[in-house]
Amino acid sequence: MTRTTLSKRALSRRSFNATLGAAASLPLLGRKAFAFESADVIVVGAGLAGLNAALNLESEGYSVIVLEAADYVGGRTRTFDFPAGPTNAGGQTIGPYYARVRDLADRLGVPLMSPPGRIAMGNYVRGELVSSADWPNAKVNKTVGAERNVQPGAMEFFYLSNNNPLPDVESWTEAEQAHLDVSIARYMINKGASEEALRLASITMNVFSLSTGSALSYLRDIKRLQWGIANTNNQNTRATYGASTEDDGFEFSEVVGGTQRLCEAMAGALKGEVRLNQPVRSISMTGDDVEVKTVDGSRFQSKYVVSAVPFSVLRNIEVFPHFEGRQKDAIRQSAHGNTVRVFMEPTEPFWEDDIGEAGLYTDTAIERVFARSNEEGEIIGMDCWVNGNAAFRLDQLPSESVGEFVVDSMARIRPASKGKLKVIKVHSWAKHSASGCCRHVFEAGQVGEWADVMAKPHDRLHLAGEQTRSIENGMEAAAKSGERAAFEIMERFG
Ligand SMILES: Cc1cc2nc3c(=O)[nH]c(=O)nc-3n(C[C@H](O)[C@H](O)[C@H](O)COP(=O)(O)OP(=O)(O)OC[C@H]3O[C@@H](n4cnc5c(N)ncnc54)[C@H](O)[C@@H]3O)c2cc1C
Repeated sequence: MTRTTLSKRALSRRSFNATLGAAASLPLLGRKAFAFESADVIVVGAGLAGLNAALNLESEGYSVIVLEAADYVGGRTRTFDFPAGPTNAGGQTIGPYYARVRDLADRLGVPLMSPPGRIAMGNYVRGELVSSADWPNAKVNKTVGAERNVQPGAMEFFYLSNNNPLPDVESWTEAEQAHLDVSIARYMINKGASEEALRLASITMNVFSLSTGSALSYLRDIKRLQWGIANTNNQNTRATYGASTEDDGFEFSEVVGGTQRLCEAMAGALKGEVRLNQPVRSISMTGDDVEVKTVDGSRFQSKYVVSAVPFSVLRNIEVFPHFEGRQKDAIRQSAHGNTVRVFMEPTEPFWEDDIGEAGLYTDTAIERVFARSNEEGEIIGMDCWVNGNAAFRLDQLPSESVGEFVVDSMARIRPASKGKLKVIKVHSWAKHSASGCCRHVFEAGQVGEWADVMAKPHDRLHLAGEQTRSIENGMEAAAKSGERAAFEIMERFG
């Protein structure tokens, strides 16, 4: 009977994992350097993808060790517990079609709730503060024709959601759609966008820049969101993560207490504990075995391994045999964007003294400021949200200066806010997390080059993580990728 069969049929996970490998009989001295722990599968990364892979594998009787670099589980679903209440730094909104995420929450008894209502957003464009109502006729509104009635923050949706040319989500990798794998700027220009519309859209777009991001990939994301939505051609829809209304036809949810609670429940449901503070440094596959080493010298052995880390992280892990061809290029070169968030607390409702809208779209370095409310609709927090190249530019400032920079910028833009905003925390996903990014981004031309190889198993290594998404978005994509990788491995075990 093979060890795998044993572990499935007879051994408890605890006893199996307690089994030390080849050096178990060595004297204690120097043992750490040689001893290793074994399991059927090692999962690298305890985000939604890795945890879902582990849960699926364990539910079929396979033993799993999960190795996580950070000191917490959940990766990009991190929740901060601020005095005003739990606040999500990453994944927050659960879309209506997030079947896996919803099912996990249901099975694990993690309660979901409706998101608090959207808080109105005004604009600061070309040096002027303008309410959303005044925007269409504002002097600083330099957009053209129908664009004039579109709020700056909704410009990307105006151009990318209206008449989305993709017939369905699955078609994004088909040859007939390859002509859409051009830059978002090119796509918008072809649709008649003015230069000013491009400039305004560049603030909200979650890519490095409009001139490099792939329109095809973005249209795919939007098509998924549009599935089943009644009024997809609503010109002013701001349907983006966490910014929808019932009018948009969306039905979104959030995890009570913060999204990280879901990942903690997933980790808690595993038979073994997730090994925290264990950044993986190498994965070596020889013959029928995989050996994984972490930075402190610990060694783990398995039959298969799941990499559930972003490619921007995987490229820094030594993998033997090496990745090859287009897959190597995708892992080494694919783009991973950043989001910087500055969480603030307003000490007074200063917005009542200017345009009356607490949230603000700006065409400045601080990009957007969202207001957060509690269930009673009372504003309890403000959150500056900077994407793309602008986020990397903020990363160049010392971390401790970023909060001050945002508050000072706000005081300049909105003098009413002066002295009334307190910084609670600055979080850059590129700088302050082991994930090292907010999301994978396809640049123009890369869908055709790489989409079909990004999730392809390499030797005994199976690839999960949101960057391997096919038709889902965000957290659902991560959960699905973990499930897929687990099924691939189960098939190989037979
Ligand atoms: C600001 C922001 C807002 C978002 N909003 C939404 C939203 O509203 N809705 C939505 O659906 N999605 C949203 N997302 C996206 C969603 O959070 C992610 O797609 C999803 O959580 C990614 O999960 P993952 O498991 O693929 O990766 P991760 O969560 O990044 O997991 C990877 C794990 O690997 C660990 N790791 C890294 N290096 C190593 C190493 N060497 N060894 C071991 N472990 C390692 C990391 O610490 C991490 O825990 C948002 C993301 C961000 C950043």
